[in-house]
Amino acid sequence: LGSRDQHWEMRIHALPRGQRIVHLSDRTGSHAADRIRVDFVANASHELRTPLASILGFIETLEDAADDPETSARFLKVMDAEARRMQRLIDDLMSLSRIEAEKYRAPDDSVDLGTLAQEVRTELAATSPRRAADIAIELGDAPPVRGDRVQLSQLLHNIIGNAMKYGRDGSPVRVTLRRSSETMLCLCVSDESEGIGPEHLPRLTERFYRVDSSRSRAAGGTGLGLAIVKHIVERHRGRLDIASTVGQGTTVTILLPLATPSEPV
Ligand code: ADP
Repeated sequence: LGSRDQHWEMRIHALPRGQRIVHLSDRTGSHAADRIRVDFVANASHELRTPLASILGFIETLEDAADDPETSARFLKVMDAEARRMQRLIDDLMSLSRIEAEKYRAPDDSVDLGTLAQEVRTELAATSPRRAADIAIELGDAPPVRGDRVQLSQLLHNIIGNAMKYGRDGSPVRVTLRRSSETMLCLCVSDESEGIGPEHLPRLTERFYRVDSSRSRAAGGTGLGLAIVKHIVERHRGRLDIASTVGQGTTVTILLPLATPSEPV
């Protein structure tokens, strides 16, 4: 009955005169989906519990250090950072569930990704002015795509944000937009960094999968950015590819359907 990863359900119906009907169903798919759901809840709880435990610990210590303003100020700063980490995580969890809830509703805005990329660069500049100057947007023939404006802005945010977070300090981040066929637009975001080992590439879009956990957390990552990107691309009937060369850098390529596909000649 196949490999050990397969799950079968067997039902036996008794008939008169000792006869039996044996009914076998392949439950491999739903079993895997259950596992993913259980793991997700466990991971999300763990991710939220860690900063919460830290905040509770600091509150307790703060009560003892109430008459030392310097120590109190330092503790409050840490608590603020931990609370913001929880907030980012909750925002990302809500985004994921919203995108999943809209999975079957086709997005129908006509979105100019070039303008959106410039807006995202300006937003990122507010949090990291020096690095934002290194983002080069190269526009080829880039007609509007059919999409959900808010979700596409989030997609650009997550991918350009990752290139800034994980790229080498001072190295450029290249965002290019060009038509790749009569029906699709190609968005490419490349950085120069240590790159990602080939063994990690297939798992990057899993929720909470990180190559280097401490680096991701130090950079304010939730581990959900690429899972969100994957869901947005799927809702848009697009394609996502992540390629990386260790020691050189990473390129994320996304194909999205054009708002008005051109007629074949
Ligand atoms: P995070 O919030 O941790 O950045 P993501 O889902 O966005 O989560 O990315 C998952 C992991 O993939 C990151 O923790 C990081 O290890 C790796 N990663 C993503 N983008 C890049 C990149 N441009 N360069 C190197 N590593 C990256």
